[in-house]
Amino acid sequence: MKKVYSHENLAILNSAKNLLEIDGIECFIKNEYHASGGHVGWESIPIELWVHDDQQAASAAAILAKGFTATSESPEWACLHCGEKNDGSFETCWKCQKAPAGTDPSNNKSL
Ligand SMILES: [Zn+2]
Repeated sequence: MKKVYSHENLAILNSAKNLLEIDGIECFIKNEYHASGGHVGWESIPIELWVHDDQQAASAAAILAKGFTATSESPEWACLHCGEKNDGSFETCWKCQKAPAGTDPSNNKSL
């Protein structure tokens, strides 16, 4: 297993994971628990994206470099509530006004 990417934003990690899975690369997110659980350090521990197969790490990195991280420092994220794509500079979904999953779990209860 090998780490291919890390970010503090779970929504961005999920987008990266989706990108890899489209190409048939099995991957999983580490530290997701910290991002959504509200435990000590939840804000400072970057969430990590790992691939199961070390031999796929290189192609995974290439995919992420080409189609994901290369876009800018604030890559697009897909809304987990309505599936809409959002610009990286948006803090909430332009369509349904939800925050990316994992950033503010209490939002889910308000509606
Ligand atoms: Zn949305």
